[in-house]
Amino acid sequence: MAKAISSTIGYPRIGEKREWKKTLEQYWKGNLSKDELLTEMESLRLNDIKKQKAIGIDLIPVGDFSLYDHVLDTSIMFGFIPERFGEQEDRDTLDKYFDIARGNKDAVASEMTKWFDTNYHYIVPEIDGDTEPALTKNRLLPYFLEAKQKLGIIGKPVILGPITFLKLAKGFKPEDFNKLLNKLVPLYIQVIKELESAGAKWIQMDEPILNTTLTDEDITRFKDVYHTINQELNSVKIILQTYFEAVDDYEEVVSLPVDAIGLDFIHDDGANLAALKKHGFPSDKILAAGVINGRNIWKADIDQTFTQLETITEDIDKERLIIQPSCSLLHVPVTVSTEKDLDPLLKDTLSFADQKLEETLVLTDGLNKGRKTIENKIQEQTRSIEKLWNSADRNNQRVQKEVEFWKEVNPERNAPFSIRQKIQQDFFKLPLLPTTTIGSLPQTTEIRQGRLKWRRGEWSDNEYGAFIETNIAEWIERQEEIGLDVLIHGEFERNDMVEFFGEKLDGFAFTRYGWVQSYGSRCVKPPIIYGDVALNEPMTVKEISYAQSLTDKPVKGMLTGPITILNWSFVREDLQGSEVTKQIALALQKEIRWLEENNIHMIQVDEPALREGLPLKLNKQQDYLDEAVYAFKLATSPVKDKTQIHTHMCYSEFGEIMDTIDQLDADVISIEAARSHGELIAEFEKQSYAKGIGLGVYDIHSPRVPAVVEMEKSILRALEVLHPRQFWVNPDCGLKTRGISETVTSLTHMVQAAKNIRNKVKQNV
Ligand code: GLN
Ligand code: ZN
Repeated sequence: MAKAISSTIGYPRIGEKREWKKTLEQYWKGNLSKDELLTEMESLRLNDIKKQKAIGIDLIPVGDFSLYDHVLDTSIMFGFIPERFGEQEDRDTLDKYFDIARGNKDAVASEMTKWFDTNYHYIVPEIDGDTEPALTKNRLLPYFLEAKQKLGIIGKPVILGPITFLKLAKGFKPEDFNKLLNKLVPLYIQVIKELESAGAKWIQMDEPILNTTLTDEDITRFKDVYHTINQELNSVKIILQTYFEAVDDYEEVVSLPVDAIGLDFIHDDGANLAALKKHGFPSDKILAAGVINGRNIWKADIDQTFTQLETITEDIDKERLIIQPSCSLLHVPVTVSTEKDLDPLLKDTLSFADQKLEETLVLTDGLNKGRKTIENKIQEQTRSIEKLWNSADRNNQRVQKEVEFWKEVNPERNAPFSIRQKIQQDFFKLPLLPTTTIGSLPQTTEIRQGRLKWRRGEWSDNEYGAFIETNIAEWIERQEEIGLDVLIHGEFERNDMVEFFGEKLDGFAFTRYGWVQSYGSRCVKPPIIYGDVALNEPMTVKEISYAQSLTDKPVKGMLTGPITILNWSFVREDLQGSEVTKQIALALQKEIRWLEENNIHMIQVDEPALREGLPLKLNKQQDYLDEAVYAFKLATSPVKDKTQIHTHMCYSEFGEIMDTIDQLDADVISIEAARSHGELIAEFEKQSYAKGIGLGVYDIHSPRVPAVVEMEKSILRALEVLHPRQFWVNPDCGLKTRGISETVTSLTHMVQAAKNIRNKVKQNV
């Protein structure tokens, strides 16, 4: 390398208009043949490579593409196919691949979980300690050859490294880790050697586990594994790629026997650069410097970034630098160029995957040709950023003062839980084991179409309002017939639990095509929080009060919590995330006050995303949790004693954060637990929890209607560790994805189960 080169760690798979998703779903529906699917996918893949080439990227990744998930790809490549699918001999390999991810009629899907602290979900490898790993197919080779033969591009194959892969897997005993690792390494070597023979020059091995908190044993594993791999290779160069944080043990990591080390200089809180300055960088290695933020959607401050690069070149010649985004661009939308409706002030500050690669190139050019050559670009970028910075949207004095004011006040409920509990019991007079649901009710095609008609202007506000009210009224009646104790309005007016609120708050913007893969073919379009968040008029009062006016039973108000709104949005970076959360919390505080003023005294503030935002490094977790607790209390604590605050969480394992959950001081919490029932309940054997709690008694992710006895069992199991006075009976999440009739039957069974157990335990309480 005579000069610095540019590189992509990974590129979005979904296409500019989610062509990837649509193609996949057409295949699943049976509307495309396997050949048609593969041809269409190849063309998408090659197109993405061509685009990167046209931008001018030197090292273009191959094999970052996937038909579902790259972790599942890795499992399959090494022969880790769960037995229940392996036995189904008649299934084609491609269908089997999708079956593992999605389940089929005879076998449940593999578990899916969050990829580090992102909102991307991977399929958890199921590895039985006795399985002999075997290379079923070198999946990178065809990708590499395809780019080489069809486009004349020597791509950079990307592979998930063996240690991270095993760390993400489940199903084997910890003592089998090294045994499995030793069997996997020769297979990795074979994959790499085949790529080398085919002409690969660089291979990127992703080991983001290096960015979590590691043990000495892990570091030793890294030394052994990469030493073994290194000994077997000739000309091909290995980039050991890390991301999402600083590496845990800089000196050890940069000394590993590989050709290049990829470091994230964005999400490391400055720690990687500080370590580089302190310990230097080995003179025989290349640094792949992740300097463009791969996880936000903002233009880089190129001025500052270039200065950072100049600091790095004091220690490392530019000939030994690869310039790249901080992580795979999988986590950002494809391109800003398709956004036609955004305010130019905002649009001018946005940078999605393609723009991020252009920025990467500007930096690389600047290094190779001198700062002067990129001065214009630097100026232009700085101007756009400053314009937004100085705009009224970012300088709402009222909001800023309010945040400051609350910093002097410790947000606490007026009375402790034990007192509130009595007041609330006197007020609501709920039976033992009260029954309720989580918030949303079936979002039928009719409801979606109604929303669409209104959005398109085919329906007036009045027509739409009447339509929503009819649905609310129907369901209030149904809930009363079913016999639920606490009702909900059903969330029919909401498309998405974050977007709905974002659209009503100042400071939020929405893109048209800003999709990001969440899991499989499912994509999300996170709102952009670009300005100060402010609430001017009620967001939910109309629908909730209407529902309450129809019944004597309490109707729960339904809000999305500050942490979830933050974690599921792209957030401005001139303010700390914790400050943005406070602004959101204050908006919610106002909404809660308005709800109370309108006679709503049970209010649920959902925080399903609280757990997933937990920092990767152990030593940063407590601060995050403290901030989350503060924000939740900022929103909810000013309420009256009799107002019962509920919260709901799902999608994660909560055992380790039960303390935090307790500190939220919510009167009642409902947690998704049906799928891992035993696990969470066992947690309460270890620690006591006094407040109201509902551990979902049935799984809403499947259309199956559970029998009464099944739910009775579930309740009884919970009552072994929780008091009947504190236990709530509810499904484990919202019902919006379910059909009407299965919902009615399931809830009827649930209420029956609660009544049966209520009668049994009544005498003893
Ligand atoms: N109240 C929301 C609902 O029922 C909660 C959704 C969630 O937990 N993700 O849909
Ligand atoms: Zn949920």
